[in-house]
Amino acid sequence: MNIKADEVASLKALDKEHVWHHITPTAAAKAGVPLFVRGEGLQLWDSEGKEYLDASSGGVWVTNVGYGRREIADAVHEQLCALNYFSGAAATKPGALFADALIDKMPGMSRVYYSSSGSEANEKAFKMVRQIAAKHYGGKKHKILFRERDYHGTTITALSASGQNERREQFGPFTPGFVEFPHCLEYRNQYGNDVDYGVRAAEAMEEVILREGADTVGAVILEPITAGGGIILPPQGYWEKIREICDKYNVLLIIDEVVCGLGRTGAWFGYQHYGIKPDMVTMAKGVASGYAPISCTVTTEKVYELLSEAEGDHLGFFRDISTFGGCTSAPAAALKNMEILENENLIENSARMGERLLAGFETLKAKHPVIGDVRGKGLFCGIEMVADRETREPVHESVSAAVAGRCKELGLLIGRTNRSIAGYNNVLNFAPALVITEAQVDRIIEVLDQAFSEVCA
Ligand code: PMP
Repeated sequence: MNIKADEVASLKALDKEHVWHHITPTAAAKAGVPLFVRGEGLQLWDSEGKEYLDASSGGVWVTNVGYGRREIADAVHEQLCALNYFSGAAATKPGALFADALIDKMPGMSRVYYSSSGSEANEKAFKMVRQIAAKHYGGKKHKILFRERDYHGTTITALSASGQNERREQFGPFTPGFVEFPHCLEYRNQYGNDVDYGVRAAEAMEEVILREGADTVGAVILEPITAGGGIILPPQGYWEKIREICDKYNVLLIIDEVVCGLGRTGAWFGYQHYGIKPDMVTMAKGVASGYAPISCTVTTEKVYELLSEAEGDHLGFFRDISTFGGCTSAPAAALKNMEILENENLIENSARMGERLLAGFETLKAKHPVIGDVRGKGLFCGIEMVADRETREPVHESVSAAVAGRCKELGLLIGRTNRSIAGYNNVLNFAPALVITEAQVDRIIEVLDQAFSEVCA
């Protein structure tokens, strides 16, 4: 799409005057933000014709199949012309087909509940837990545990379940019944070096279950790999122990795949790297790669049955609705998105290119002392920046901001996590579209090398 020069000026002025941008400090918004006009694969063009390589998949890890997918637009167009909407007790073609295709990728899971954002998908999971507690445990087993540094969404209850204080500040009081347990970032081991870290970190969750009383805890929610909280990979043995503890205390395991789902980490779902069986899985961003707003709360048949009414209990089913969960364009886009992931072998590409990216980070680490740790799985990787490798003291966030800023000037878009365990925004994150090529991976490394050299010399 070409926008004429005089229209660009007017659009920028209108934006400055009326658009309230997400997570953008007022000063930055007033200084002006780029006007993006077109995308293709990983490439983006702004209104001045400047080209960017987007390693952030639209800023917040969404565009798994890349920009400019006409086949998704066509599928959405066709569906909208046939039937755009119906909600409640009626089937639609894309709703049925996508649910079936999704369950096919998730052995052990059975039911798909549609909504339209990651926060909402998690809210649905929480409501399921609360209703199961009400129906089967006299309301007692209602607490939901969450992990330090994990994020589960922007609504007040999803924030109540989020372990990122910097995002919670100024929004309390929160929904009662949500309890935090400690993080599992081995690079910032809080238990000393003579422990089996993965098992010890999982036991920290068990300690909270026991402190709260297992008969009051209905579920735990975790990200398979913590995203915005600092790219935290589970240590060896962690997930197995988490599942074991959940089984021991009859606690449902909810896995938040809002970021990791649909190939981001080199498997269909992040949890599948660790061979564990969840009770509920939530997902959003990559489900339709940003071509339509769609999220899913996927459960086992057992969870579905716990929320089915008994004879004579007319109010016993899951008493919830999501109006826009009935938009048919969303599963139509999701179905085509999944077809692309499959036909173009993008899950495998994510695994392969992720290894190449991480290997590139290792070479940068050997060269730049400011890099303390590099970590990732598939195309979801991070670089933790430190002022001192020995003490692992984090760099001030102005340093990581300067690196990200220099990358942007050089035409590479990358992300920075919210505050990390270390207390600063010192982790750079990378989540390019899964269509990335070897040459594009190498370009990311090249630009980063230049940015680190210039900013951190
Ligand atoms: N869960 C995770 C792990 C996320 O990263 C996010 C968003 N960044 C959400 C949930 C919330 O998703 P949404 O913004 O679509 O509500």
